[in-house]
Amino acid sequence: MALEPIYQLRCSCNQYPWGKQGSNSLSARLCAKQPGWDGKGPKDQEFKIKEDTSYAEMWMGTYPVLPVYLAANGDDLQNLIDAHPKELLGENTIQKFGHSKIPFLPKVLSIAKALPLQLHPNKGLAAKLHEKKPDQFTDPNHKPEIAIALSDFEGFCGFKPLKHIDNLLKLEALKKFLPKGSGADLDDQQLTTVVRKMLEADDQTVKETYKALTSLSPSDCDGDDYIPKLAPRLAEQYTEADPGILVALVLMNYMKLKPGQGLYIPADCMHAYLSGDIIECMARSDNVLNTGLCPKAERDNVELFCSCLTFTQHTPEDCLLPKKDYHKSKNGKTALYAPPLSEFDVLETNLSVGEKEILSKVNGPGILLATKGSARMRANDKEVQLTEGACYFVAQGTELEFEAGNDGLQMHMSFVG
Ligand SMILES: [Zn+2]
Repeated sequence: MALEPIYQLRCSCNQYPWGKQGSNSLSARLCAKQPGWDGKGPKDQEFKIKEDTSYAEMWMGTYPVLPVYLAANGDDLQNLIDAHPKELLGENTIQKFGHSKIPFLPKVLSIAKALPLQLHPNKGLAAKLHEKKPDQFTDPNHKPEIAIALSDFEGFCGFKPLKHIDNLLKLEALKKFLPKGSGADLDDQQLTTVVRKMLEADDQTVKETYKALTSLSPSDCDGDDYIPKLAPRLAEQYTEADPGILVALVLMNYMKLKPGQGLYIPADCMHAYLSGDIIECMARSDNVLNTGLCPKAERDNVELFCSCLTFTQHTPEDCLLPKKDYHKSKNGKTALYAPPLSEFDVLETNLSVGEKEILSKVNGPGILLATKGSARMRANDKEVQLTEGACYFVAQGTELEFEAGNDGLQMHMSFVG
């Protein structure tokens, strides 16, 4: 079989309770547009949106939990890559990562309520956890991730500045979480103790503190006047006794993003997404530690969680991932999101009706999604009609050209740069 520069994929969508309902879920709507979900083709199943179901994430990678299939014949994309790793991924990628797999995993998330308060362990810890509990930690890799807002988005990420947390912890209701003997300025070591004390607090203490937060006046909150407003919303989602509410509202940056803004979550960074639709891309991993904003039975060990915490992000600005010019864009219609120390970069192309863009070839593989609208797409010498929701694997060394259709085009592509 002659190899193609691009392969259309069929992606799948999972169902978590935090996902958006039925056809309100962008991930479900995009998933329903994948070819071959009518159950008729080879190896097909059926995907029909059910209005009483919560659809959370459409996965666009080769991670075995929810892999992509070739639209043409229903085969797992990984099988094709295994047969032609050098041609499809390129020598650079194989050498850099030491395996013949796509080193990143892009997803579309549709978030109706808070995701668990979580962090993704660094490589050292992930390897240990995977060895000990391979069923729960299904790979030995780290998982830095980024989120690009497709709609208005809210989430909690990293820690607030120490001085700011210090001021909040002076409130009568929060004093009990200060570490013993801390009088002078709070440091990161003591902050870990605060996180642990909040997460280990008994139900009654959490409830009382929650109540106190809801009755704070804006002037009590040192600028964070959202605290009394957001507290009841989180409690409605996860009960007043969920300690994740305290950690999120008192200690973490509350981020509101507009479409096109990006968020960067390094390994070991605490985060909890709250609402909106996003493109998410992460290193090839599925490891997570959850400690709050989820039922008790789903919480991981607090000690373990606290032993991982990173303090690299201590302001909202630290969490933002700036959009940059992309030097391989010929018409300047494409922006680059390049997270530090990551396996991948992500592009966002925005074209109005009839506008064109050319993206020069790169040395690694890519996965692209026509997030909105449509275009004529040329990939080296192959031309296809790119329709909304279509997802393609792009082989290394492929030049891409787009000409937007009547509804314009928004395209996202994750790739090894
Ligand atoms: Zn995460």
